[in-house]
Amino acid sequence: MDLKTLIRDVPNFPKEGIIFKDITTLLKNPDGLADALKELYNLAKDKSVDKVVGIESRGFILGGALAEKLGVGFVPIRKPGKLPAETLSETYSLEYGTDTIEIHKDAISPGEKVLLHDDLLATGGTMKAASNLVEKLGGKVVQISFIIELDFLNGRDLLKDYDVHSLIHYSAE
Ligand code: AMP
Repeated sequence: MDLKTLIRDVPNFPKEGIIFKDITTLLKNPDGLADALKELYNLAKDKSVDKVVGIESRGFILGGALAEKLGVGFVPIRKPGKLPAETLSETYSLEYGTDTIEIHKDAISPGEKVLLHDDLLATGGTMKAASNLVEKLGGKVVQISFIIELDFLNGRDLLKDYDVHSLIHYSAE
């Protein structure tokens, strides 16, 4: 199945000039959902993953399903102030300003093999910050997976130390 045909482009969302890649049209399609999950599972199944870490909020959907399929636990990385127990934070730069993400301090044990998942790789800043959080807790990032990668933003360059996979690529805007 060509998963790309199930992605909807929404121009000028959330702001002027951005073409938002909407995965809800893939998620609502039962074959698309099953195929995407199967592909992510096949990429990860031999990596001896101990935990899947998903990034708020679209990274929770297939990240959670993938964790269950791999038979491992799921850990959320969230926006500030959302996680109830003690957290570790990482702040990273955006085009204008900064953003912060958080993880529970006891979410990962030292030495655990972690798969990081999000819906989309753009500049890579979010995922780089997420990998920093996992590594600060002593986790080892064994794979990073995305549904979509915007190749023309070169986010992969920030993640060059990792095994990075995306199911769908866009080579130009
Ligand atoms: P970045 O840190 O630049 O790689 O941005 C990745 C995060 O922003 C992901 O959590 C995406 O969900 C979101 N994102 C960035 N650009 C887009 C886009 N064009 N369409 C949908 N989501 C996007």
